[in-house]
Amino acid sequence: MYCSNCGSMMDERQQFCPFCKAPNPAMQQRPQFHGQVPPPPYFYNNMPRYYFDPAEQPPETALVVLSAIIPIAGLIIGCICLGNHENRAGKAYLLAAGISFGVGLLISFMFAFMPLLFLFH
Ligand SMILES: [Zn+2]
Repeated sequence: MYCSNCGSMMDERQQFCPFCKAPNPAMQQRPQFHGQVPPPPYFYNNMPRYYFDPAEQPPETALVVLSAIIPIAGLIIGCICLGNHENRAGKAYLLAAGISFGVGLLISFMFAFMPLLFLFH
């Protein structure tokens, strides 16, 4: 090979040019290249999944609806999500279940006290 600095003939296994003492770029780059091999593209594509924070994962609409229809199911799903550190989704399911349970309780009380209202009028 030829020195990139002075253009004189030199052995590519030499670390420095014997004439101008310029460092051999082939020798310098070789260890760096082996140490930092660029990862294949699929590694970058999969990275967001591995580094995605489960706590910020949005809740699934179908499960929120299920939680609203069946509060007990929402309570169980919410607890499972919180156990998996999916805080945001878990809280959404628990909230849906809580609101549904509260509304259901309110309606139940209304129906329970309605006969009394008619009785006193
Ligand atoms: Zn040289």
